[in-house]
Amino acid sequence: MKLLPNVLFIFLFFGFSSNGKLQKPLVNLKDFSTEFVYEIRYATPHNFIGEALYDCAECLLRPEVAEALLQANQYFCEMGYRIKIYDCYRPLDVQKKMWAKVPRPTYVGNPYGNGSIHNRGAAVDITLETLEGCYVEMGSDYDYFGREAHIDNYNFSKEILANRKLLFEGMRKFGFGTIRTEWWHFSYKKNWNYTTLNLPLPCE
Ligand SMILES: [Zn+2]
Repeated sequence: MKLLPNVLFIFLFFGFSSNGKLQKPLVNLKDFSTEFVYEIRYATPHNFIGEALYDCAECLLRPEVAEALLQANQYFCEMGYRIKIYDCYRPLDVQKKMWAKVPRPTYVGNPYGNGSIHNRGAAVDITLETLEGCYVEMGSDYDYFGREAHIDNYNFSKEILANRKLLFEGMRKFGFGTIRTEWWHFSYKKNWNYTTLNLPLPCE
């Protein structure tokens, strides 16, 4: 019965919400790696809302999601690329601001319904750049709401299609799923098991 205290510890340490969902605390990606590049658009006015929604540019994730992203970045590094981060965990209040501006569930998760996997710390918005820091063309800008952002749109040059293939295949290898309408979005497996959070980002 040596296992029992350990199980009890894990239960008490991580805790479960009232609806039985696991809630491991979020971790900050920069505490685990310096190999990522950050362009957290919602910490700047350069986003579809046109104003900064975050007080600082931090990437918080569930620990197993951060671990999988580290492995994915290692994989891309071996191919000559690295991950550039656009968004990670997003507090629910920020989701409400986005929904007020764009109440279209195809593009913005309804904060009064299931919200977004970003609110659960289990999704990332990313692209690739080369290890030399060169731009990698994916066919549209981040947060472009239209056909050019769809992953089932093959009306692009061979180079763009190859870039997308590299990104999707690499991420899927490490447990991330794609969505049809946004080439940059990846949700970690079993993402609905995580609770929605409204903790603010840890800004000084
Ligand atoms: Zn996303």
